[in-house]
Amino acid sequence: MDNKKKIIIISAIGATIITLTTVLISVFVCFHKWSDATCNTPMTCEKCGETKGEVLQHEWVEATCKEAKHCLHCGLTDGEPLAHTWIEATCEKAKTCSVCNATEGKPLGHSVKNWKITKQTSCSADGEQVGICDRCKKECVEAINKLPHTKSNWQVKKDFIINSDGTVTAGTEAIVCVVCKAELETREYTAELTISQKNAAICAYDEINFWHCGPSFLIYSVLLDIENYPLEDAKFVVAHISVDWDEQAVLFAKENAEGSSRGSLVDEMNYYGFTKAQIDKALKEVGY
Ligand SMILES: [Zn+2]
Ligand SMILES: [Zn+2]
Ligand SMILES: [Zn+2]
Ligand SMILES: [Zn+2]
Ligand SMILES: [Zn+2]
Repeated sequence: MDNKKKIIIISAIGATIITLTTVLISVFVCFHKWSDATCNTPMTCEKCGETKGEVLQHEWVEATCKEAKHCLHCGLTDGEPLAHTWIEATCEKAKTCSVCNATEGKPLGHSVKNWKITKQTSCSADGEQVGICDRCKKECVEAINKLPHTKSNWQVKKDFIINSDGTVTAGTEAIVCVVCKAELETREYTAELTISQKNAAICAYDEINFWHCGPSFLIYSVLLDIENYPLEDAKFVVAHISVDWDEQAVLFAKENAEGSSRGSLVDEMNYYGFTKAQIDKALKEVGY
């Protein structure tokens, strides 16, 4: 047998021995992997299940009103939670546990028998009353709700205007509180003109530019007597046309001042339907 063969045989035998040894060790010897002991089990090998040492002692946490006595590690409980230690409800605080602050129900609320009004209530402002609580003796201040407003009927806030072409520009009307004057509701205020009213209005604007007269002359002498409109329509139209009567008085005075005494100009302006105030103002304007 040559050396080469010897070496091969010896190597083969060696490899076999190593393999067998490894198999034997792995079957009969465990390289333990220990898990920690718990309250129920001692240290235990995760591979072979072998145990070592003792189970842990439970570590008890005393009962409270929220939790029963229990083990910190395994959660095992013993008995029931404690009863709450209640402090009775007061005016401002609900029934409360002095240990855990749990509450039950609602505060009682103050109990005032004799209120004294310190601020009268109205429809525009809350009132106020003060009293001592019979239970806790605290001074209590309470608002008294506003009174309801007292509604008026619809009142014109801004009159509608009848224009020179017979159209109408709406105004507004409102319901107000008769006590505090607050505006409670508003709406458009307008009118639907009859054909007679519309024509009377167009006529009134034309005539005023010719006559420069006051409102009563325009109603009675012009619209009623000359133009034959019904008195009601004449009055209605003149009440709603947009004419500056002061300005008309000045125009009238300017046109008629020449060659006229102050007295006769006043008489004339009276006749043409101007008021004393309008006449005085207009005469001042033309130098009388
Ligand atoms: Zn093991
Ligand atoms: Zn435990
Ligand atoms: Zn409690
Ligand atoms: Zn009270
Ligand atoms: Zn009011």
